[in-house]
Amino acid sequence: MRDEKKQWPVLLVSGQFGMENDDAFRLRELAAELEQAQECSVIPSNSYEDALEVFLSRADLGCVITDWDIPEESAEKMYPEAFVKVIRQRNRTIPIVLLTDRLETENLTAEILEQIDSCLWKTADTIPFLAGRISDLVETYCRSVFPPFFGELVKYAEKYKYAWHTPGHLGGQGFLRSPAGVAFYKYFGENVFRSDLSISVPELGSLLDHEGVVRDAERNSARAFHADQTYYVLNGTSTVNQIVWRSQVLPGDIAFVDRNCHKSLNYAMVITGALPVYMIPRRNRRGIIGPVRLSEFTPESIRAKIDASTLIPDGRKSNAVRMSALTNSTYDGVCYNVVTIKKQLERSVENLHFDEAWYAYACFSPMYRNHYGMTPDEVEAGHPPIFCSQSTHKLLTAFSQASMLHIRNGGTVRIDPAEFNESYMMHGSTSPQYNMIASLDVATRMMQDNGEVMMQDIIGEAVQLRRKTASLAREFAAKGDWFFDLWQPRQITIDGRRIDFCDAPAEYLSTRQEPWIMSSADNWHGFEGIEENYVMLDPIKLTFTTPGIADDGTMQPTGIPASIVTNYLISHNIVCEKTDYYSFLMLNSLGTTRAKQGTLLAALLQFKRDYDNNTPLEEIFPELVAAHPVQYAGTGLRDHAQRMHEYLKSHDVLGKMQAAFEVIPDQKLKPADAYHEVVRRNVEFVFLDDMMNRIPAVMMVPYPPGIPIIMGGEILNEKARPIFDYLKTREEFENEFPGYEGDIHGVEREAKDGRTCFKTMCIKA
Ligand SMILES: *Cc1c(COP(=O)(O)O)cnc(C)c1O
Repeated sequence: MRDEKKQWPVLLVSGQFGMENDDAFRLRELAAELEQAQECSVIPSNSYEDALEVFLSRADLGCVITDWDIPEESAEKMYPEAFVKVIRQRNRTIPIVLLTDRLETENLTAEILEQIDSCLWKTADTIPFLAGRISDLVETYCRSVFPPFFGELVKYAEKYKYAWHTPGHLGGQGFLRSPAGVAFYKYFGENVFRSDLSISVPELGSLLDHEGVVRDAERNSARAFHADQTYYVLNGTSTVNQIVWRSQVLPGDIAFVDRNCHKSLNYAMVITGALPVYMIPRRNRRGIIGPVRLSEFTPESIRAKIDASTLIPDGRKSNAVRMSALTNSTYDGVCYNVVTIKKQLERSVENLHFDEAWYAYACFSPMYRNHYGMTPDEVEAGHPPIFCSQSTHKLLTAFSQASMLHIRNGGTVRIDPAEFNESYMMHGSTSPQYNMIASLDVATRMMQDNGEVMMQDIIGEAVQLRRKTASLAREFAAKGDWFFDLWQPRQITIDGRRIDFCDAPAEYLSTRQEPWIMSSADNWHGFEGIEENYVMLDPIKLTFTTPGIADDGTMQPTGIPASIVTNYLISHNIVCEKTDYYSFLMLNSLGTTRAKQGTLLAALLQFKRDYDNNTPLEEIFPELVAAHPVQYAGTGLRDHAQRMHEYLKSHDVLGKMQAAFEVIPDQKLKPADAYHEVVRRNVEFVFLDDMMNRIPAVMMVPYPPGIPIIMGGEILNEKARPIFDYLKTREEFENEFPGYEGDIHGVEREAKDGRTCFKTMCIKA
């Protein structure tokens, strides 16, 4: 770990720095000694407040040295005690050194002594001795921040071994033989290649066998995420889901699956040959996907679905349900009370699976207490085994594709690691990317070290943006003007008093679960019959709403479809996560900064100005106008929005979407058999116009709302006509508004007679 110390600067704070006395002289001497003799870098600071700013803005400090003496004439507002306390709250292990010049150890409280690592006397010790001690502390600390796998990887890569094994580029050398390779090497930098190793390196353990430092890292993650076993999966949560299912489900087994599932669960059903019955999520009038009703989880309800299934043969209808799969939280941030769900499902399901791709952080904040799959067991642990899939890369900090699979053993059924690993290996490469393993190791360590603090910051920032937006919306509304709003409670009850959301204390909103729990008494969310204490909104998932639709679903005379706003934001380099008809989703994550939030609000206000001024589209979306002048030239932003709004309104697009998702089409083939028709080449592309009474071989997932409208093997018959109608409306919309093509997985587009037509792979008739 060469040059390591230099990269972990020492923060040296003293009110005496600039003075002309002996203390100040010695402090400056200490700084010089640290930099020259010890090769540390030093950040001097004159006040505790400034030093705290430095500390809060960077996590790369190697040590904090603080002068315990405050000069008498000082105007310092913050005292060393308070300074030390904040630092310790946010970093449990960084060395903190007190510099004193009197024998005042007896004045130091136990509380302070507990929080510091060392107490050095400014005057009694020699400067080289002081600098040496500090340098040692920095060195020990900067080694300790490396979690088990990452630490070993760095050590190995630095040894510069002369290797004769894969990967063929051998630490990057292979790239240097040809210009494109050189460009690649220079772009990524040496370390990426030196730590890209093959599995023939025994020091680094084995991912497939979970041995050595990889095992240490996975075990550490299991502890951090409250699991009994944790597996690192380098091919995303898509693969996690398949591993989980393949480990427990046999062909012909009954599975109980959230219709609001990611497509990887459909593939899990395909590869296992499961026979699915579905949970049906609610939606609100805006089209936002809500929770499955609690009543659907009762044994009676599940039994009724199985009895009604056309796929499950009579002889199997009394079989147990092998696996359930529930998406938690939903894309929009609806999180279930898992304790409640477990109580119902454990009565009839053998394995519970929670897909928490967007939700790996939940266990690190009390905000989400009881609302995540690995929620610590209550007293009676009679539940079945629980599996959780988490895309560490989505909202925590890992390389793309790096995910975790967590297992909680059942009260009586333990998941045997050797047996489970067969499924794990079936989906893994025998050449894992070590940098990705390291990223999972590091993501874990970051959350262990200060996950709670980071989560509190993220939630606090989201709350701040929520309050700010709500208060802007209130200000504009008071003037009879419009603005965007957020999908969140309009009012909050605190101590029996109702107050506007934006007047509620930020502290209350960012530390308490109550304001986020949905109830039927205050129907801001728009979901019917919400059960008490059943779901909450995740404060960090920000759904902005645009004008045009009332809470009860009534389309208003004027409106602004969200896709226009998000296109506008994109042209300002702000990319949102998801666009619905009259709402769009932004995510707060570890990467969000305050500056980003200010930029977003500024852009939304700018949109408002351009909308109110009806600024010509030529200025706003020049490329769109250039590509489709017939449709858009000479139009202003407001007229453009209004035309699209009127189209959505007069064609009742939201109503049609709603109706389409009320239907679960008849199942003709199980997902596996539908896929087998693809293997047999017994499939063909069929235009939407000809699709009535056909069976798609693949799932079709329109965004919005992002849940499957029909699965492979289900028939688009008369009962499913609302699905056809909705897809047809989408097709017409795209022809009316080119440049606003929405994403529909499972649909391809082909130009026919000057029109865009949808087509889908169907089983041959
Ligand atoms: C993204 C996602 C997945 C797949 O995760 P990857 O890590 O991208 O493979 C699975 N389930 C849900 C609910 C998702 O949103």
